[in-house]
Amino acid sequence: MANHKFFRQVNRNFDRAAKFVKFTPGLLRLIKMCNSTYHMQFPLEKDDGTIETINAWRAEHSHHKLPTKGGIRYSMLVNEDEVTALAALMTYKCAVVDVPFGGAKGGIQIDTKNYSKAELERITRRFTFELIAKNFIGPDIDVPAPDYGTGEQEMAWIVDTYKQLVPSLNSEGCVTGKPLELGGIRGRREATGRGVCFGIEEACRNREDMKELGLDMGIDGKTVIIQGFGNVGFYAAKFLMEAGALITGIAEMEGAVYNPKGLDVEKVFAHRKETGSILNYPGAENITDTSKALELDCDILVPAALENQITADNAHRIRARIIAEAANGPTTQEAHDIIKERGALIIPDNYLNAGGVTVSYFEWLKNLSHVRFGRMDKRFEENSMKKLLAAIGEISDRKFSERQLAELSIGAGELDLVNSGLQDTMIEAYNQINEIRKKHDIDLRTAAFVSAINKVGIIYERMGIFP
Ligand code: GLU
Repeated sequence: MANHKFFRQVNRNFDRAAKFVKFTPGLLRLIKMCNSTYHMQFPLEKDDGTIETINAWRAEHSHHKLPTKGGIRYSMLVNEDEVTALAALMTYKCAVVDVPFGGAKGGIQIDTKNYSKAELERITRRFTFELIAKNFIGPDIDVPAPDYGTGEQEMAWIVDTYKQLVPSLNSEGCVTGKPLELGGIRGRREATGRGVCFGIEEACRNREDMKELGLDMGIDGKTVIIQGFGNVGFYAAKFLMEAGALITGIAEMEGAVYNPKGLDVEKVFAHRKETGSILNYPGAENITDTSKALELDCDILVPAALENQITADNAHRIRARIIAEAANGPTTQEAHDIIKERGALIIPDNYLNAGGVTVSYFEWLKNLSHVRFGRMDKRFEENSMKKLLAAIGEISDRKFSERQLAELSIGAGELDLVNSGLQDTMIEAYNQINEIRKKHDIDLRTAAFVSAINKVGIIYERMGIFP
């Protein structure tokens, strides 16, 4: 039996919030437990003909809504505890942002660097086959997505395997985060990072909260350190920079770079791609002990890598006024308490990184409806707006130029609608949990759990126990 350390940590956060809801202890236990976990071991024939055994898991934490939803990660740290904890976080995250899914998570215990593309393809396809065989995947059952160590390519292999073995009208909806050509949606790749940016912006918009932190209102000019420069970290940094923040530090496994005047995110990315390391970026200071980057002076620290990065060991050295959890579970409960004691604001993972699953929800809806968002109404909207502008022109004798007409009458396409839905989701959810925070005088993480437990609990209460 796995040592459920991470899952216990999630449940400790749950228990704190449970004091502020009205459900019975039995019902609360029911919400907390993980419904089903499938541990599979299967063989991989390596390119050199040798055979290796692969360990993989899929955990479905809660079936209060179907399908269940959550990413699949490829990492040596994957184990049953991690997958279970992350599945539970998915349940609460989906509830916080009103995405109608139960929570799930999967993982394969591999270091992707040690495998060729062909080997990764065989591992992914076999994993999908195992999930199909045990009814752990399907557009109405359980829908995986990318996570740490996976991306569009893995999702493409999954959807292809699924379609071959379970062909049906809706089979494209068996996984999200797919390439556009295979049923993906515009904006999904950058969704988690964009959501992180929307969430931080909304927090910074609150004058009263910022005053309490000793910060000015708004994102403009705020200094930001990003830990983790993968998909989530890169896009979060890029959008925060575009919104006016100063990205002063970026940390990766091999080290960190720091420049108090601000780093150009895309250029740092290109430098790392070219040289194989983030270090030695022109004009920036090298920090070879990457863990020290978390402790640098900044307004906002964005951990966007893995869990347990901020612990009792380093929490008291963290100086940021806002900790924005783009990763899942980056702060242990002990560290959370130390940071809270110092009066800093933690924007919790189970709200802040929900952008990915939110746009996954839009992708799944697109797959089930078999039509791209905006396809029916984009031109209609444009034409209506043109007529309106023409009428205004006639009444007011004001002649709009062709360029003005084109700019003012633009209809919403898929990407516009996805980003608008994502922004609305992040703003609404922030204000919901911030209200709960103020009502009970608790922190934002506990408030997010209160919100989630109330939304999930009411469903369990109404469903009753079967049989
Ligand atoms: N892996 C992402 C997460 O942890 C996305 C999950 C999804 O889109 O289903 O939220």
